[in-house]
Amino acid sequence: MKLAENHCPDFQSRYPSGRKIVKQVAAFLAIACAIGLASARTYAQDEINVSSCPGQPKIPVTLQIDCSHVSAAADKQLCRPFIQNQACKVFPAYRKITGIKLEQTCPAIKFTIYDDANWPHPKGEGGLALHCAVDYLTEYSIKFRSNSKLGPYDVHELLHEYQIALGPLPSAHVLFGPSMAEAMREVDDVEGYQQRVKSMQDEAQRLKEKLDGEKANRPRMTACLPRPR
Ligand SMILES: [Zn+2]
Repeated sequence: MKLAENHCPDFQSRYPSGRKIVKQVAAFLAIACAIGLASARTYAQDEINVSSCPGQPKIPVTLQIDCSHVSAAADKQLCRPFIQNQACKVFPAYRKITGIKLEQTCPAIKFTIYDDANWPHPKGEGGLALHCAVDYLTEYSIKFRSNSKLGPYDVHELLHEYQIALGPLPSAHVLFGPSMAEAMREVDDVEGYQQRVKSMQDEAQRLKEKLDGEKANRPRMTACLPRPR
């Protein structure tokens, strides 16, 4: 826009000159730009991609994490170790266990982490496996096992991603118990592996006792065998 030339002596005192307006607009744009850059930088820090691991220059599936919905700075610190464990330990463990080449269905998997307060899904879910993406609560992802020797990691939702590649299954958690135990052994979480095996043995014992109880209470049936001729 071209500014009108000022011929009125009174005009100068009442209105800023064109040059002054341009300066003010430029200053405003500079501030807005600085704010925009700062928020973009913060957002970039909250997003981490892992496409290589120690001793492996390029991994077949890039694992990404978005921690922009996490508010506590201490929690945000856990995002990097978590996604590195998922990419460099849990992902290859399930690749070995299942033999599934996940890159054929997902070139990348994105984990979006939420605080409890801004969780966009129904309450009661700790994580939600989507196609090539997982939405997670902090408690079940970046804060899960964060005090362990290995650091934060999870073997549940990534197994869903592997099983989604198989197509529809009769149940959402087919062979999850033994598969997760095996994955924990693969990532060298010996303690976690032993706990999981123990809980599976306890569960098997409970099931056996329940079945034995049902069998004992069942009414006796008299067999009607055909008589020999
Ligand atoms: Zn599940």
